[in-house]
Amino acid sequence: MGGNTPCASCKLLRRRCSQDCIFAPFFPPDDPQKFAIVHKVFGASNISKMLQKLPINQRTDAVSSLVYEANARVRDPVYGCVGAISYLQNQVSQLKMQLAVAQAEILCIQMQQEPPFSVLQQDPDDLSQFMDFTSSSNVIQESLKSESLWT
Ligand SMILES: [Zn+2]
Repeated sequence: MGGNTPCASCKLLRRRCSQDCIFAPFFPPDDPQKFAIVHKVFGASNISKMLQKLPINQRTDAVSSLVYEANARVRDPVYGCVGAISYLQNQVSQLKMQLAVAQAEILCIQMQQEPPFSVLQQDPDDLSQFMDFTSSSNVIQESLKSESLWT
C-alpha cells in the first residue's frame, strides 16, 4: 500500500496513492483491469463513497460484487447482471417444473405397480369369493325360487 507503487486506482486516476487510500487494499497495481472496469461503470468517486459507507470487514465483498456487476454491465449493456439473474430464475422455474413432472410420473408408476400386485396376490381369493358368491347366489336364487313356490 502506498509507498512507491501506487494502487491500480491511483495509477489510473494519476494521483498520489496515500497511506490511507481507500482503494489500495482492493485494487493492487498488478490487476489494473479490475479497477478500470468498475471505474468505467460506476465512477471512482461513487465507488469511494460506497466503500466509505461500509464497515471495513464488508468492503472486500462489496468490491467483489461491484466488479461482478461492472463486468456483467459491460458484457450485457441492456440487462447487466439482471440478465444473469432472470436467466437463472428461468432455469430454476424450468427445473421446478421438470421436478414436478418427474414426481408426478413416479406417483403414476407407483400407482400402476401397486394394484396389479395386489390383484395378483388376491386373485385366488377373488376367484374363490366369486365362486362362493355364485354358489351362494345360486343358493339364494334357489331359495327365492323355493320361497316363490311357497307363496
Ligand atoms: Zn491508491
